[in-house]
This record gives sequence, structure tokens and C-alpha cells, in this order.
Amino acid sequence: MSYRANLSHDGYIYTKQGGLAQGLRTYGVILPETKIRDAAAGKVWDVIVVGAGYTGLIAARDLVKAGKKTLLLEARDRIGGRTWSAEVDGTTYEMGGTWVSHVHGRLFTEMQRYGLQDAVQMTRTDDGGCAYFTLDTGSGSRKLSLEEAGAMTQRAWKLFMNIDGLDGRLLCPLPYSSLGNQRVSFEQIQAVDQISCRDRIDQIKDELSADELALLESLVPHMCAGTVEDVGYLEMLRAQALQGFTPETFEEVWTLYKIREGQSALARKIFDDAVRLGLQYSFRTPIKSIIDRHGVVTLDTTTNKTFRARRVVNTIPLSVLHTIHFDPPLSPLRQEAMRIGHLNHLTKVHAEVEGDLRGLRGCTWPGDLLYIYGDGFCAGEKSTRITSFAGDNRGKLDPLKEPERLETALQRFHPMKIKKMLFHDWLSDPYSQAGPAWYRTGFLTKYLAELQKRHGNVLMANADWAMGWRAFIEGAMEQGGLAADTVMNELGIQGANPASDPERDARL
Ligand SMILES: Cc1cc2nc3c(=O)[nH]c(=O)nc-3n(C[C@H](O)[C@H](O)[C@H](O)COP(=O)(O)OP(=O)(O)OC[C@H]3O[C@@H](n4cnc5c(N)ncnc54)[C@H](O)[C@@H]3O)c2cc1C
Repeated sequence: MSYRANLSHDGYIYTKQGGLAQGLRTYGVILPETKIRDAAAGKVWDVIVVGAGYTGLIAARDLVKAGKKTLLLEARDRIGGRTWSAEVDGTTYEMGGTWVSHVHGRLFTEMQRYGLQDAVQMTRTDDGGCAYFTLDTGSGSRKLSLEEAGAMTQRAWKLFMNIDGLDGRLLCPLPYSSLGNQRVSFEQIQAVDQISCRDRIDQIKDELSADELALLESLVPHMCAGTVEDVGYLEMLRAQALQGFTPETFEEVWTLYKIREGQSALARKIFDDAVRLGLQYSFRTPIKSIIDRHGVVTLDTTTNKTFRARRVVNTIPLSVLHTIHFDPPLSPLRQEAMRIGHLNHLTKVHAEVEGDLRGLRGCTWPGDLLYIYGDGFCAGEKSTRITSFAGDNRGKLDPLKEPERLETALQRFHPMKIKKMLFHDWLSDPYSQAGPAWYRTGFLTKYLAELQKRHGNVLMANADWAMGWRAFIEGAMEQGGLAADTVMNELGIQGANPASDPERDARL
């Protein structure tokens, strides 16, 4: 790895001795933070991309590759947004978006493009220490083999998803068009969108054991950090369809493979490619207003700078959009959607623990932390990195105020000697304010199409409202790629052999 890990403002590290400290090193920090060669007052860029998460990086790279004069503006000191990896004592920790799979086509294409398709490592290690599953559902804790736990989860999930007798194929045959298509009408989907995950569980609860019920009630918040009462069942149907209409692929698609050098290495390769092609940028440059008049969009920043462009690709997440002043204002329907927001208010925490806990898995429900994964050796191979997820703990456990309670919650999975914990508090972060978007019952059929709409010369692009793998890196890449294509079509690109123009040919 030729990159240097510089200190970011983002991320926290906690040790008993040192307490909580903010800021971790990552390949994602770009120094110097600004590269704008032509800063003439009044300059109108072809395109300004707001946000350097994966949506923004893909859009910026594609646009500059097509010869568009592109400027990237980012509020943070780093690229990657909700996906970034920290380098701590020789070990790479994924602070947000993590797992990759060949099922994520655009992501895998990027990994191939930059030579990372084989540079993956597995989170699960079959021959690692503590290779068992702790199931603690409040009435006592017991250990299952990983196979037993897998079979139990799959049986429950299959029942849960089989609402149409065909594992979701009837109601969600084309998951990129989950709101209706040639096989299912919008009206049919509207009816499904009224079903919550709890409604569906109630339909099948007589067929579930107490453990299976607990696994369903905890898996839903593990996936999207909302409760089964709130999360729309349509979200689960889409997820199931995307992973091939079966729970058998869940682990391989969701939680198995990571990029060995970390997500920030891939993000960095995309960014560096774009810079090589002429991308200009400014970090620590939060946008505060977007004004679209007479064919030119003006962006004002909180650092008192102004930039102009013919088109803007705005990749600010749903939960942060309310902080931006839009003129003309956003539609009342979009504003309503922003007020309702999405459900994902997760916590993800890493710990370095003594010994070999690579095989560890578990679920504590109800609990301060829901699921745990042994995640490979730390540098030196004497200690293990473990990763754990909580659902929506707002009002219950604030990791910034009581990090030691996370330690207590980790011990419930397995007694462990914790050396340090690391996390990114996505909820207090002003530029995310939440995790990746999963929606409540009734939301998608009412608001999704509106969120995807452009706002005049401003393309609205983010994984939070992607068509397919919404709330995934893949969804971000879908949105960045589509927005860049739209801008290219509108501003025009010169191909090598442009089709002949009869009028021009006649003039020549
Ligand atoms: C804990 C966690 C775990 C996850 N796990 C996975 C996983 O395993 N696999 C997977 O595929 N996905 C996962 N995801 C989801 C994935 O990380 C996101 O879907 C994806 O990174 C979103 O990318 P984006 O570019 O659309 O949005 P973001 O990454 O949020 O990018 C938006 C950018 O806009 C910037 N911004 C915000 N406000 C302003 C402003 N005012 N001015 C300028 N810039 C601004 C932000 O700083 C950010 O860089 C996870 C996410 C989290 C948080």
C-alpha cells in the first residue's frame, strides 16, 4: 500500500486508561485539502459534485473522464462518506460500509478496474477460536454450533419471506423496480407497503419456535436498525430478491468478504484516478445553500465561498438535506419525506480483544448490542478484532457519553479482555446524522420516486434512495453512475467518431 494514513477528525477510540479520544488515521484524508487551479471569481464549472462518498466519487470520476470541468466539494476532511476504513496500530477497521460481494455488480466492477477483485479477506474464519454462536434471548444464554444457528435463522427467515408462496418472486420479481413493473402493479405494491415486519411475523408466529421468533425480531433491526413494528416488509422483500430469493446467500452477500486494504483504499483509487484526469476539489467545504437561477446553480459554503456550475450532482444524505437552503425550495412532498426521515440509527463498534475469537458469532436480544462477528486477527496475530452492531439505541445508550457500557454489552456475547474499542458515531455526525436508509411502512410508495427526482439543474443522487441496493455501497455507485450519465447527456460529450450531422456536413 503506497498511501499514507493521515489523521481525520472522524472516528473515536476508547481505552479504559485513556478514555475516549476523537480522530483516527485513514487513507481517505486528502492533503493538501484543496486543489482548485482556476478559481476566477464568477467561473462557471460544467458540474459541481457535492459530497465525496461513493456516490460523489463515481459521479466525479465519470464526469471528468468524459471531459467535463468538474469540481468536487466535501464537508469532511476525507473521502468515503459513510464508508471509510481507519488504520490503527497496523490493523484496518471498517468504520461504516464494509462487506463486498460479486452480487454487487457496480462495486465489483470498480474492484476489478482497480485490481482489487482478489484482494479480499473473510470476516468469518472457520478454523478460528470460539467458533460458536451465542444465543442470548433474555431467558438465558446458550451456545449453538454455527451450523445450528445458521439452520435456525434460515428456517425462520424463509418462513418470514415466503408471503407469496414463491419466496418473494411473485411480489418482487424485479427488485430494481420494486414499486411496480410489467409483472406487479403499483396498486399491488401499495398494499404490500402497508405491511410492517411485525404484521408479517404475526401471520407466521404459530410456526416459529421462541428462538426463531427472537432471531427474526433481532435480525430486522440488525439489518436496518428500525424495530419490526416500524420497518416496512417491502424493504425485506427487496433485500431478499436482490440476494437471489433465498436466505442461503445472506452471509456471502452481506457479511463475509472485505477489501483487505480497507474501503478507503478503493475510494482512494477512484479519487486518484479522477484527479489524474483533472478533477479539482476542496475538502472541509460544507455547502449551506443551493440556488438555481437562469441556468446556473450557485453554491454558498459555510466557509464563505461561492461556486457556480451548469449542473450540480448533490449527494447529501436524506437526514442531512434539511440543513441546506434550496432556492427554488424543494417540493412539499420531498420536504415531507425529509421530515419523516428513515429508520436507521445504528451503532457499529469494533474492539481489539486478547486471544483468538475469530470464530465468534452471537445474538443478544433484547440487548444494547444485537449481533457480533469475529473479524480476523489484529496485526501481530495475538489479538482478535471483533465487530458488533446495535439497533436504534437513541435515548438508551449514547456511546460518546457511556462508552464503557458498550464493553459490558460485548461481554454478554463471550467473556473477553478488551484492549480498545473503536467506532464512528454516525448519529451525532453532522454530515450523516443517521446510518444508511431503510424505510418505515408506507414510505416507499409515497416518497421514493420523489426523492429520486432531480430539482431543476440539481441532480439528487444518494444510496439512500437508490433503486436496487439502497443503503449499500452498490446503491451509491448506481446513483453516482446514473447522475453522471444524465449530466453527460445534457451537457454533451464528444465521442471519437461523432455521428454525422447532415446540416453541418452540408455547410462544410
Ligand atoms: C455502520 C454502517 C455499516 C454499513 N455497512 C455496509 C456494508 O457492509 N456494505 C454496504 O454495501 N454498505 C454498507 N453501509 C452503507 C454504505 O456505507 C452507504 O450506503 C454508502 O456509503 C452511502 O454512500 P453515499 O455516497 O450515497 O452517501 P455518503 O457516504 O453519506 O456520502 C455523502 C457525502 O456528502 C457529504 N456531505 C454531507 N453534507 C454536506 C455538505 N453540507 N456539504 C458538502 N458535503 C456534505 C458527506 O460528508 C459525505 O461524504 C453501511 C453504512 C454504515 C453507516
